[in-house]
Amino acid sequence: MREPIATLFAIKRYALHDGPHIRTTVFLKGCPLSCRWCHNPEGIAREIKTLSVQAKCIGCGECVALCPKKALSLSSKGILRNRSLCTACSICVDSCPALAHEATGWQTNIQTVMAEIRKDLPFFDQSGGGVTFSGGEPLMQPLFLLELLKACGQLQIHRTVDTSGLAPTDILLEVARHTELFLYDLKHMKSTVHKEYTGVGNELILENLAALCHAGHAVRVRIPLVAGVNDDETNILATGRFLAALPGIEGVDILPYHSIGRAKYQKLGMDYPGDGLTTPDPNHIKKLIEILNNSGFDVRLGG
Ligand code: SF4
Ligand code: SF4
Repeated sequence: MREPIATLFAIKRYALHDGPHIRTTVFLKGCPLSCRWCHNPEGIAREIKTLSVQAKCIGCGECVALCPKKALSLSSKGILRNRSLCTACSICVDSCPALAHEATGWQTNIQTVMAEIRKDLPFFDQSGGGVTFSGGEPLMQPLFLLELLKACGQLQIHRTVDTSGLAPTDILLEVARHTELFLYDLKHMKSTVHKEYTGVGNELILENLAALCHAGHAVRVRIPLVAGVNDDETNILATGRFLAALPGIEGVDILPYHSIGRAKYQKLGMDYPGDGLTTPDPNHIKKLIEILNNSGFDVRLGG
């Protein structure tokens, strides 16, 4: 059988908010949602793009000469890329002495990712941490994810999967057999509002959460909280009621909206979809936390 290859867009070390204790977080590329508050736009598309940071260009002309598609040219402002000609071969990324070109991801295999993960074994052993698979949506590359989970399991590394929950139920439950903890996003209890802000309804997401819990898997729910979108008491009360009826919810993390992803959109040449979104007032957040506490949940602010 051919070894699975995956597309990643980051591996983050010493992560403190992606699960218990110190984590290494592996970000898989591709996501079926398009949340307006997404702060990892490089993780949305499955395909890899290359981009240029004009301010870094020192005008040596190396990439212009090497580009097989003649997609690059030098101007008074620095390097210019013709996106319609570029095939994202990454030759310019590898050849620029000033690191003025970047790729939004890379393809890799299990062995290479495991070699990275193994470097952090001493931190996992000391802290009780482990590996978190995130994205994008990690369940969009299920074969690779499963193989990685199994390889981590063989080394007795604690495994967390951070998911939007939008995936075929059979795949989710198979992944769950090799996962110690899920971080599971809940954006809105009303499907119409969910669709308005994420591009998809919430039916399968809620069904999958119930399926995970009833199958006995450990879940921490994460709510990205955005003022005027999902921070009304009605939505939070409905969320608390829904979760209270499920076994195995370990707690709820509230993640207030922030706009730090804006610069990434600019760099990628994408419009920022979060214009007009704001962070809820801290006193209001306290009140919502109380509501969830009253539904019986341990609630953490910021994860
Ligand atoms: S990624 Fe390849 S095709 Fe695109 S600009 Fe760079 S060298 Fe040319
Ligand atoms: S190789 Fe780098 S520094 Fe040289 S022209 Fe291309 S982008 Fe500019």
